[in-house]
Amino acid sequence: MLEPGRITAEALQAVREIVAPGVTTAELDAAAARVITGRGAESNFQLVRGYRHTTCVSVNEQVVHGIPGDRVLEAGDIVSIDAGAQFRGWNGDSAITIVVPDEARPELVAAREELSRVTEGSMWAGIAAMSRAAHIGEISAAIEDHIVGAGHRYGILRDYVGHGIGRKMHEAPSVFNYRVPDPGPRIQPGLVLAIEPMVVAGSEETLVEDDDWTVSTVDGSAGSHWEHSVAVHDGGIWVLTAPDGGAAGLEPFGVRPVEIE
Ligand code: MG
Ligand code: MG
Repeated sequence: MLEPGRITAEALQAVREIVAPGVTTAELDAAAARVITGRGAESNFQLVRGYRHTTCVSVNEQVVHGIPGDRVLEAGDIVSIDAGAQFRGWNGDSAITIVVPDEARPELVAAREELSRVTEGSMWAGIAAMSRAAHIGEISAAIEDHIVGAGHRYGILRDYVGHGIGRKMHEAPSVFNYRVPDPGPRIQPGLVLAIEPMVVAGSEETLVEDDDWTVSTVDGSAGSHWEHSVAVHDGGIWVLTAPDGGAAGLEPFGVRPVEIE
């Protein structure tokens, strides 16, 4: 799963480089598609029944599953991009959030960057927990604790969760982004999880828009989504969709990823 992970990371890097005011969400999708097909992989999002795009692009009050199209990005927008590659029958899945700079509205930008920072931090807290936890439930608790501990009144989406990943993009088990009573399956070598907190600035209540895909907040508050695919192996953990295996993100948690031999 190293190669589909690397390809997924490259696709999101290509998107990151072109996010700017005036760019359409379809152009972001095309940038990811060029990398994935150029590397001889296929978009696993297109293997989802009824979905024709390489990415999901979710803007502002859209949290996840936004459909790329002719929407034009504006200064101050908060944009989450989710993408995945399937290569030789194995999958990668990852998401990032970017705030488009807006010099006229520094407070809006700062608030949205904080939402993204806390969401990303909660993902790394969950990944760090995965390196030492006995059960998946400890990952969920670490994600929630990080979000609550940031001191904002953010909402955590309940209806959308992380998942196992392997031959298929979505496999058992579910990885909740909040504490659950059931400790869940044991964490052991061979397990690969997509850890993906979805966090909103206001109420966690969401609706699915008329396009039957896009998940938006009911109160209109902004959303953020970060995701990595993470492998447990005999030597430790390795973040498959991070170019450095997760070293930089895990460093604040005192965890060092171990390369897969
Ligand atoms: Mg994803
Ligand atoms: Mg996923």
